[in-house]
Amino acid sequence: MDRYDVIIVGGGPAGSSCAWKLSQAGLTTLVLDAKAFPRVKPCAGWITPQVVETLQLDVDSYRSENRGNPTDEPDSRRTWQPIHGFRCGVIGGRSVDVRYDHAISFGIRRCEFDTYLLHRCGASLRLGEPVEQLQRDPDGWTVNARYRAPMLVGAGGHRCPVARMLGEETSGSSNSSDSSNSAKPDRSAPVVVAREVEFPAPNDCERIDPTMPHLYFCEDLLGYGWCVRKGAYLNIGLGRTDHRSLPHHVEQFVDFLRRRNQLQCELPTWMGHAYRLYEHAAPRLYGDRVLLVGDAAGLAYPVSGEGIRPAVESGLLAAAVIQQAADYRGESLAEYHRLLTRRLGMPRQPGIEAMLPGAWMNFLGPRLLTNRSFCRHVLLDKWFLHRGQAALAN
Ligand SMILES: Cc1cc2nc3c(=O)[nH]c(=O)nc-3n(C[C@H](O)[C@H](O)[C@H](O)COP(=O)(O)OP(=O)(O)OC[C@H]3O[C@@H](n4cnc5c(N)ncnc54)[C@H](O)[C@@H]3O)c2cc1C
Repeated sequence: MDRYDVIIVGGGPAGSSCAWKLSQAGLTTLVLDAKAFPRVKPCAGWITPQVVETLQLDVDSYRSENRGNPTDEPDSRRTWQPIHGFRCGVIGGRSVDVRYDHAISFGIRRCEFDTYLLHRCGASLRLGEPVEQLQRDPDGWTVNARYRAPMLVGAGGHRCPVARMLGEETSGSSNSSDSSNSAKPDRSAPVVVAREVEFPAPNDCERIDPTMPHLYFCEDLLGYGWCVRKGAYLNIGLGRTDHRSLPHHVEQFVDFLRRRNQLQCELPTWMGHAYRLYEHAAPRLYGDRVLLVGDAAGLAYPVSGEGIRPAVESGLLAAAVIQQAADYRGESLAEYHRLLTRRLGMPRQPGIEAMLPGAWMNFLGPRLLTNRSFCRHVLLDKWFLHRGQAALAN
């Protein structure tokens, strides 16, 4: 049996950030991930300056070499695309350009970014090994009948086996002796479903300005599509909270891009993915000897669907609580719930659809999305970039 202080299930940004902080504090940490890295993760790949600061990313060193690409691809260095604004609008309708005089976001490729973070985190890594068995006893956890630790962190994204297990525990007997937070996972909560392609940009994409990604909302405001050139790569996708009509909206979006001459080439096969938004989720964050971080807890920001920042911040907060905890009983880990809700706000913050109910939303929403002032000060500064919230001190 291999013994550690903490076992983390999942090596995405949530898991690697948590492992990074725990390793710095001298705790022996194991990260298990079902996939070998570099692995493909569907994602537009925008990170805000606050993420760069919190992760203490040395951008020059990050850009200088490339060990992340899954295949031989055009650029030998990691992609780092400064973003100076967005084109915002409604699919099939008008759009406005909102420009800033400095970089307000950065485009990365997840196959590179996640691999970089995981390899610098200082933990022991078991990659390509899915967690299939989780056994809890009074002293801790046995994972896959091989690894033992007194503390477990679920960072396995939307289908995290630790989150699934916690959800099953909570929805069991109401007399459960588990001293975790009482919120039951909201099984009826809508998830964002998304489709995306990322591929080497063909020559006819030269005129797409890589510093100005395009964001086009669906007319019913239940999702949006994006088209972004990140250096030598093009990334196109669309996410919605209504899964039945996703294929129709993806098709409509691609037609729209073609009609506007923003897309001429054939597209590779779409990749699908799903995850929960914080607004809609009743997060189940901890139990005895266990914490959930990132998508496993359903923490992505409402409206934008940005999940990397909440993943990183929750990973770091979880690590801080683990270091300080007198023991790993639920009551000792409750501090994590307090810190996280202070950071993210209580669930069900209003998004655009909550602010503009029913007919008003249908009438006003599409108009607001072509109003430059609304797009800059509300849509981008507040909902997409969270400019008012400083980086998490680390
Ligand atoms: C199409 C799309 C576009 C997006 N664009 C953006 C964006 O531009 N910016 C942004 O901030 N966010 C974006 N997001 C959201 C963002 O990708 C997620 O919120 C973020 O990846 C969450 O990180 P995580 O570490 O919690 O989970 P993940 O990154 O999903 O990592 C979870 C890891 O757990 C592993 N795992 C799963 N099951 C097991 C198991 N049984 N055993 C072991 N390991 C397991 C997986 O292999 C994976 O590596 C987007 C999401 C989608 C779907």
